[in-house]
Amino acid sequence: MPATLTEPLATWLVSGIVGLCVGSFLNVVIHRLPKMLDRGWQAQCAELSGEPPPELPPYNLITPRSQCPACGHRIAAFENIPVLSFLFLRGRCSACAAPISARYPFIELLTGALTIAAVLRFGVTPTAAAACLLIWSLIALTFIDFDTQLLPDSITLPLLWSGLLANVVGFVPGVSLRDAVVGAIAGYVALWTIYWLFKLVRGKEGMGYGDFKLLAALGAWLGWQMLPLIVLLSSFVGALIGIGLVVFRGRDHQIPLAFGPYLAIAGVIALFFGRSLVSLYLPA
Ligand SMILES: [Zn+2]
Repeated sequence: MPATLTEPLATWLVSGIVGLCVGSFLNVVIHRLPKMLDRGWQAQCAELSGEPPPELPPYNLITPRSQCPACGHRIAAFENIPVLSFLFLRGRCSACAAPISARYPFIELLTGALTIAAVLRFGVTPTAAAACLLIWSLIALTFIDFDTQLLPDSITLPLLWSGLLANVVGFVPGVSLRDAVVGAIAGYVALWTIYWLFKLVRGKEGMGYGDFKLLAALGAWLGWQMLPLIVLLSSFVGALIGIGLVVFRGRDHQIPLAFGPYLAIAGVIALFFGRSLVSLYLPA
């Protein structure tokens, strides 16, 4: 039985607080994972060329503690409370008053809001937990791709396996394991085909292998029936954002924009509204 707006306040509060805290962690992932991958590649290059690996202090999702990028001030626990600390510090570092990006509280609020939405939509159920895992991964991928034009395998591949697993145990209503397996394969092959056609016709690369893996993961989670909808929605979202950027920021439309964020946004829309949208083109 899905929760409703009259659900006890506790459900709202708990899912909101969990979402805000996860959002805070996603900020760390978005900021650090690309740097961690970069370090790994550099170490591999050094190894291949027979040089000793560069000696660097440990850098992962836990170490070192978060610091102000401007002055190196260690962020204390009370300065690390989602959203509240940003408001309390008035968006500035407590030591050097350098501005803190409003993106941090934005990602926390977004994660909090979508977590509440998932619990309202699917109730306090394993389905909601699975939906949250999908949403949280898509938020991390969106911002990492936006920043670096990369969709790390260390998120897309586990997302694919966990989508198949979620459908093995029946956590996603209306998606059979067969729909999920066909979805994973078709998602990859569809974008791979478009990629090669585009490359043959235009001689340019419109997207990357990360995009194929992301659509494969969405197919694994939501079933092959959702794929046409996701591709359609992502083009629509991409066109809207592209037009918005040109209008408001005068962005040169020759600059390639990452495609991953549009796929991810389309995936979230498909998760919440896909079944009613799909019924428009596929009979039940
Ligand atoms: Zn500072």
